[in-house]
Amino acid sequence: MSRFFLTTAIDYVNSQPHLGTAYEKICADVIARYKRLCGFDTRFLMGNDEHSQNVFKKASEEGLDPLAYCDQMEEVFRTAWRRLDVSFDDFIRTTEPRHKAGVTDLVKRIHEAGDIYEGVYEGWYCVSCEEFKQEKDLVDGNCPLHPTLKPEWIREKNYFFRLSKYQQPLLDHFAAHPEFMQPDMRRNEILRLIESGLIDVSVSRAGQSWGIPLPWDPRSVVYVWFDALINYASAVGLGHDPQMFERWWPADLHVIGKDITRFHAVIWPAMLMAANLPVPRQIFGHGFMTLNGQRMSKTLGNLIDPGDAAGRLGTDTLRLYLVKEVAFGGDGDFSWERYDERYNVDLANNLGNLVSRVTTMAVRYRQGRLAPTGASSDQLTRLGEQMIAGYRRAMDCFALHEGAAAAFQMIDATNEFIAATSPWALAKDPASADRLTQVLYDAAEAIRLAAVLLQPIMPSSSREILRRVGVAGDGLTLDRDARWRNDGERMLALDGPLWPRRDATAGADVRVGPSDAKEPRTVTDNETKPTAVPPTRAGAPALVPPAPQTSPDPTAASASPAAPPASPAPSPPPLQASPAPGESSSERIAIEDFMKVELRTAKVLTAERVPKSNKLLKLSVDVGTEQRTLVAGIAEAYEPDALVGRTVVIVFNLKPAKLMGIESNGMVLAASPDGGKPTVVSFDEPPPPGTRVR
Ligand SMILES: [Zn+2]
Repeated sequence: MSRFFLTTAIDYVNSQPHLGTAYEKICADVIARYKRLCGFDTRFLMGNDEHSQNVFKKASEEGLDPLAYCDQMEEVFRTAWRRLDVSFDDFIRTTEPRHKAGVTDLVKRIHEAGDIYEGVYEGWYCVSCEEFKQEKDLVDGNCPLHPTLKPEWIREKNYFFRLSKYQQPLLDHFAAHPEFMQPDMRRNEILRLIESGLIDVSVSRAGQSWGIPLPWDPRSVVYVWFDALINYASAVGLGHDPQMFERWWPADLHVIGKDITRFHAVIWPAMLMAANLPVPRQIFGHGFMTLNGQRMSKTLGNLIDPGDAAGRLGTDTLRLYLVKEVAFGGDGDFSWERYDERYNVDLANNLGNLVSRVTTMAVRYRQGRLAPTGASSDQLTRLGEQMIAGYRRAMDCFALHEGAAAAFQMIDATNEFIAATSPWALAKDPASADRLTQVLYDAAEAIRLAAVLLQPIMPSSSREILRRVGVAGDGLTLDRDARWRNDGERMLALDGPLWPRRDATAGADVRVGPSDAKEPRTVTDNETKPTAVPPTRAGAPALVPPAPQTSPDPTAASASPAAPPASPAPSPPPLQASPAPGESSSERIAIEDFMKVELRTAKVLTAERVPKSNKLLKLSVDVGTEQRTLVAGIAEAYEPDALVGRTVVIVFNLKPAKLMGIESNGMVLAASPDGGKPTVVSFDEPPPPGTRVR
């Protein structure tokens, strides 16, 4: 069996997993699952990058031994990836002995080849990037990625890797293997960079203890970037398991972010060439996710926890959004509004509704039991074959969004097929009994094919859909299962909606959802907790009926199917609307809970607009004992000057939060009518600043 070894970038453990990192892991997971579906013996590697000075610093700040800190973070990352159904086969940590063996082996090989030499490094170093910076790369003297951070000027004994020697071999490699770096635009960027000349790079840091010592000079450790790249090889045996290394190296694919293509497509292959080892077959540099068009970053305080997004509408919904809505390789945008919208359009109204209609009709007209009575629809089978071919072409070149689109074309075609054949009309005519059975069989078969194609993207939903159309979801292969079938009896199962539609009421809690992170919220007296998100896991009870269709199909309406009593398939549970807004406000809290919230008066000293925000004002306030800065979402209702001198009420003991790069220490209370402008809570005769409000 041919093998396929793919990797993602390993993550710095001094930060938490966020939607941007999750995007990479999910896309790589889709590729891994696709390769397994194609029958490859697939190995999918992920891991954590632990030898960073920032990790060391962060651990000391928390009073932890760095390794103990890394142990904790390993759990954080593993939990996040499990939550997103990321099916890695191996997870490497750069503090593991196997990695140390790989690094030691590789640097020794390069050193022995004469491509590592001793020198003195003098120049700029950004501690946050942990990268040496050239003068020409600095912006106003600062790191371009850390505009508030002045790089350090360092002078130390370093070992250098003779990267300059590999300019021509790299150019030759790129010419001989046009597929080496993808997509093409990144390949062209890298080619221009190589053509402009390569300078030798530092591979060690002196006087540090956190890292892997150079075998010939243990007073120096391997520079973290050099160290990190080697994980791909050490995870498959470099320096400790030659047989395994023989089996799995070189990697077939490194999936990485576009910001680290230079390390992966220039330095890494040159390192391997120097060590006389094969270079990876392909590197794919994906784009970045933005939030509402804005870059997501720790500094901006707008990072999204992927667990929140998965919790809101289901893991598979998040996976589908990231894969289908972003052309893989380019940049993509996430917004909570669009996320909800795509859920309704693609899942609730389209795929979920189709599964529900076909299983409902199968149960109503045929007690769920379907077997072919003749030939399949020519049109549907032909379309199916085209879509499967298109899907394979797209997925083979990692156009994941086109793969997802192909599966959805199949779903659209099936909806059209049902509209054109009108099974409900056939059901009225006893002479059309065989025809009806075949139509339903074909529709179920088309759904089955779509579910097979969607398996890499939506693994648990695919399995559930396959169950409902009466086939097993285990051990699928494209060669066997992505083919039109017209044989064998199937027992379809009717169950509640896979993706209950999120109606406008449920959608209204967008602003109290995790999207809050982007702008602060003012508290209102009638504020309620967000209504519970309808369960979206397969098999969960239904809360909302499938969306009504415009077609005359009676089964498409929300009525429960009149399944015969003998039917083994349960009817959907009684239909029920989402909880009305405010319903959850009946959940009252105890006085002790309220008293945990420390409300105090504060006098506004200065107020100004937050640049690039329509809603935010930056206030400095006197709270009696100190002066504080806070950010309030009231710019639409108040001119900054009108607030100066006024006494407001703030939540005094709120944890600080970063909003648009400003640390906010507290929250201003305001009444916020739905759709209206906020009014800050104020007094006729203001008490002195710092007075407790209760
Ligand atoms: Zn930097």
